[in-house]
Amino acid sequence: MTETTTKAKPQPEENMQFQAEVAKLLDLVVHSLYSNTEIFLRELISNSSDACDKLRYAAIGEPKLLDDGGATYEIHLNIDRAAKTLTISDNGIGMNRDELISNLGTIAKSGTGEFLKSLSGDKSKDVSLIGQFGVGFYSSFMVADKVDVYSRKAGETIGHRWSSDGKGAFTVAEHDNVARGAKIVLHMKDSADEFMDAFRLRRIVKTYSDHIAVPVILDPILGEKKDGDEEPKAETLNSASALWTRPKSEITAEQYKEFYHHVGHAFDDPWHTLHFKAEGAIEYTSLLFIPSTKPFDLFNPERKSAVKLYVNRVFISDQLEGLMPRYLCFVRGVVDSADLPLNVSREMLQDNPLLRKIQGGLVKRLLKDLAARAEKADDYNKFWDVFGPVMKEGLYEDFEHRDELLNLARFRSSLHEGWVSLKDYVARMKDGQEAIYTITGDDAAMLKNSPQLEGFVAKGIEVLLLTDPIDEFWASSVGVYDKKPIKTVAGSGDDLGKIKGGDADEKKDEPGAASEQAIKDLIESLKKSLGAAVADVRTTDKLKGSPVCLVADTGGMSLHMARMLKQHGDSQGLSVRKVLEINAKHALIKRLMVLSGSGFDDAAALLLDQARIVEGEPVSDPVGFAKRLSAMMEKALG
Ligand code: ADP
Ligand code: MG
Repeated sequence: MTETTTKAKPQPEENMQFQAEVAKLLDLVVHSLYSNTEIFLRELISNSSDACDKLRYAAIGEPKLLDDGGATYEIHLNIDRAAKTLTISDNGIGMNRDELISNLGTIAKSGTGEFLKSLSGDKSKDVSLIGQFGVGFYSSFMVADKVDVYSRKAGETIGHRWSSDGKGAFTVAEHDNVARGAKIVLHMKDSADEFMDAFRLRRIVKTYSDHIAVPVILDPILGEKKDGDEEPKAETLNSASALWTRPKSEITAEQYKEFYHHVGHAFDDPWHTLHFKAEGAIEYTSLLFIPSTKPFDLFNPERKSAVKLYVNRVFISDQLEGLMPRYLCFVRGVVDSADLPLNVSREMLQDNPLLRKIQGGLVKRLLKDLAARAEKADDYNKFWDVFGPVMKEGLYEDFEHRDELLNLARFRSSLHEGWVSLKDYVARMKDGQEAIYTITGDDAAMLKNSPQLEGFVAKGIEVLLLTDPIDEFWASSVGVYDKKPIKTVAGSGDDLGKIKGGDADEKKDEPGAASEQAIKDLIESLKKSLGAAVADVRTTDKLKGSPVCLVADTGGMSLHMARMLKQHGDSQGLSVRKVLEINAKHALIKRLMVLSGSGFDDAAALLLDQARIVEGEPVSDPVGFAKRLSAMMEKALG
């Protein structure tokens, strides 16, 4: 590689290495056993269509970009049997030297690593996901052993040729007479001969690319004459009208699905399709999809709305913050409105009142459709399994739709398998129960066994088990559902006495129950012995089988929340006040009442550590804990 060129002289052909992840990906693509190789055409046509969209938008502000190459966009397919090439060309925005280098070789898309990971172990598996991971161009190497890309960027004079056999390296060089846009020449493998056939291409384009708004034209095949002397003619293979502008009744489920694959860079079936026209103050048409599987970047904090905005069929942007709220970021599709100004910059659209109105309309329609589909639990639960954790962000972000969102939310429960709605929960509330009880933690199965639930379980009171990080945030900000306060079990021990059910008739003064004075004395002794390790010690009705538990002081953040904050290096997590709650009816606690001296201190320390472990808190002094435990065991085992 030489770097001795000056601006005036043409740059020599440059030999470059693919970025490591790209090279790995290519190796995988080339050697995959994946049989559905025809998707390469969908990917290349999709790229050409995107390139035309981009130029159409750029030319709004800079019309002279269209001076050479015209304003009529076309994608051409050309079969050259003698040269064994299949060529896909467009007159879109094109790429300059730097863009060829970075887009097609040296910059791995954010999804590449994840894609490789998802495939590890099973190469035949999901190569079909390639489009979703933004690596569509490389699928050309499934059918070609060499790929040449000739491209000239709109508005620039110098064109380039990018060339590679997909084996680790590629070359870039200036090239004469390159038309505006991009021309992808695939030197077809012998095994891919099937694609050198008009009939086959016609079917593939119809199947995957019919919805593409730019015409896909098959050039006449040289030397091929059909009926007698009739000269072969160029043939447009797709409908070439934007799918969302066609009447619903004329669109098949299959066509919706292919369009979703194109706009959503997806390969799954859409779980939901919503196609509607809004009329009134602002008019727009929208075609939206909810995926059925989890997009790989669902929890990427930088994720933006994946809904594309068109103004009068001109693509404007797919990176608009304002088009979908964050909690619906997984929705794919398009919105097209003639009421937005065409010549508006993307920046100006970021905070546009019209756009906000459109967003309001889209959210309303989506939530309405979700509510309708929630009627069928089996079907709806599939959606909630995938997107529930994201949807719950809406509970504290979208005040306006909070009630609808609360009705759409589903939870794990201490009493029922599967998902439970708040409506179901309220319908099952016990006599005297006024609140909705929740417990937060990392794992539903572990929460179910938490000592904190013992009192609730004994009375048959249902508790919602909240295990998504987001739960800590919305639960405290929402506060009520259907006029019932949403409370954590940690701070609700006092409620138990008021609720009927289970062992409600339990007598306060059963034989052998400790006297009030003895309990008071024990609490004092425990406080003294444990010192600053706990903020308080108190009794609770919550516990049945367990002697103690550790909770956060009522009103503050929960211990689970504090742990999450600490994990993220947030010092707020350190400030939480911990309270040791004791079960005065437990045999162990009663024994403590008559113990004193160092034996008492050891037992108190062990109890606190036990409470910490059960709660998921670390033991503060593991060596001391082990020593005390050994000593106790020695005594017990005699
Ligand atoms: P994606 O389409 O998801 O971005 P691809 O691997 O299909 O990923 O394409 C990579 C990039 O290469 C595109 O984002 C685009 O910038 C550029 N590109 C590909 N094909 C063309 C084309 N025909 N015209 C202009 N740019 C293109
Ligand atoms: Mg692509």
